[in-house]
Amino acid sequence: MKTDAPASKAADGRPDGKPADSKALATAEAKRPARRTRELAIKGLPISPGVAIGTLYDTAEAPAAAPRRQITADQVEPERARLTAAVATSRKQVAKLKSRLAILPEEAQEELEPLLDAYSMMLGESRLIRNARKRIEAELLAAETAVEDEATAIADAILAAKDDDKAGLRRRAGEVHEIARRLTRNLTQSGFRSFKDVPEGSILVAEELTPADAALLDPSRIAGVATEEGGADGHTAIMLRALGIPSVLGLTDLTNSFSRGDAAVLDGGAGTIVLRPGPEALAQGREAMVAYAKERTRLGKLRRLPAVTTDGEEMELQANLEIPAELPLIAQAGAQGIGLLRTEFLFMNRREVPDEDAHFEAYRQIVEGTDGAGVTIRVLDWGGEKDMEALGEGVAPLHTGPNPALGLRGIRMLLKRPELLEVQFAAILRVAAQGPVRVLLPMVTVPEEVRAAREVYERVARRVRRRGVHLPEKLPPLGAMIETPGAALAADAIALEADFFAIGTNDLAMYTLAVDRAEAEVSHLYDPLHPAVLRLIQFATEAALRLRMPVSVCGEMAGNARLVPLLMGLGLRSLSMNASAIPRVKQMVRALNVDDCARFARRVMEQSDPKRIQELVMGFTPGAERG
Ligand code: PEP
Ligand code: MG
Repeated sequence: MKTDAPASKAADGRPDGKPADSKALATAEAKRPARRTRELAIKGLPISPGVAIGTLYDTAEAPAAAPRRQITADQVEPERARLTAAVATSRKQVAKLKSRLAILPEEAQEELEPLLDAYSMMLGESRLIRNARKRIEAELLAAETAVEDEATAIADAILAAKDDDKAGLRRRAGEVHEIARRLTRNLTQSGFRSFKDVPEGSILVAEELTPADAALLDPSRIAGVATEEGGADGHTAIMLRALGIPSVLGLTDLTNSFSRGDAAVLDGGAGTIVLRPGPEALAQGREAMVAYAKERTRLGKLRRLPAVTTDGEEMELQANLEIPAELPLIAQAGAQGIGLLRTEFLFMNRREVPDEDAHFEAYRQIVEGTDGAGVTIRVLDWGGEKDMEALGEGVAPLHTGPNPALGLRGIRMLLKRPELLEVQFAAILRVAAQGPVRVLLPMVTVPEEVRAAREVYERVARRVRRRGVHLPEKLPPLGAMIETPGAALAADAIALEADFFAIGTNDLAMYTLAVDRAEAEVSHLYDPLHPAVLRLIQFATEAALRLRMPVSVCGEMAGNARLVPLLMGLGLRSLSMNASAIPRVKQMVRALNVDDCARFARRVMEQSDPKRIQELVMGFTPGAERG
């Protein structure tokens, strides 16, 4: 077992570069017995299969790089809006830390609670926030510069106070600086974490990874990922699966249970991590690793075989694509094109909104990389858990409202900001000359949204034609995501406006069950097999089939081989999934018979108890339905 890596001195003067709340947690930690040596197994959510054996590496947030910046008079309001947003984010972070106190030893709770209370107060209508707002206007300072200046002024005043308790003064001044640092991190999106320093072969540990963080991970360097936060079908989970990195999320108390450099065995399929494994756990981990590799080799042999049932029914198995880096994996998996290209990656880890050429170039690479097999390009689905840096701050600040998942998300936002939609439509129409594409609208809830988007689509097509680009008479199909209960229940009306449906079961389950798909605390309630979700899928599928309109499922359900008999039985013949899931799903399709699936689906749909449905689905054996 490796020893702890030496603590590196971070630029903000803290020995480990972590924010002070982590420091306080670490202080509390220090009161526990010295470095832990005992083996500890923790169960979390199985996110991305595969087994990793490696040393743990925690991702301390890098200190924010915030050079002094002046602004012009017309930037005062946007800067103030940035500050307001950063204060709100910081308050949420501190509240979350507070909610975690209960899991710490009592002694640590007593130490931390007043500190977090002080942070909360400073993030209210405090002198720091009030005067930072004033400085933005009076001194024309960028928000982070105003915060830093005000924090320094307050801390200097505290240190100059006549008080014998010098240690107490230093502590209070430190708290002010810490809050300023947190605000600066949130203002400068220091969430653009760099993972370049993670030693090769490490298992990355974090309290939380955002989808944008996940997009920066290099699967050839990182053996596995383990986090405390996150739900099974959140966007981070989807990214990790896409990258093929063995991952477990939702590991309660993980960050309090290890030291950097500890050995661990992570099993992404089982959803477990064993910290400081003994010889037996290590041997088991190695065995599981070999078994997984063998299974992948076996499944790899299915690549060239068709996805056809025993009675000759063909299934279309396509891949979802989150970032272009996945393209080679998609080719290896034997996908029949891309059923869902999530374009959010173009807006992540960058400050400026991409222009038409940037979109075009990205789409061109992908369309060409799939050899004309077809790509369904979904226009930007901003909002909810998918917070895009390029839109959230800076150039085009957007108001998220109190409940982002129910607010200006997906097509709602695009219709409010048609210039974003126009840029994407133009790039997609241009790329249609390179290969077959379809256009997909996210978060549709009413037919009018498809109608309104089609008007923009046709207007953009006219403009693109005027620019001399040849477009076919019939434009590429324009489809709607069915991912809210409202859309599913109005699918017959939406079907009259859309050219195809893609059923997004991740959001459909979230909105139907009122369970955040990215939230570890409620992940036990997130159940795509809940009868309510299944009935909505059935209703939407039937609405499309009645009109002989193409319909697919592109949520994470599509990549779960065990659910294929049910989805086929409901009439679905097209599934789009994480590329690595295709071989297993194909193996299942090749063992099925369509009549059996239909009979099985009828049996499942008669049930109203989610548990019973789960049992039936898990107990399905191809061929046994007829018996
Ligand atoms: C879905 O909601 O099921 C879906 C495919 O879209 P996303 O996961 O990108 O929200
Ligand atoms: Mg969705």
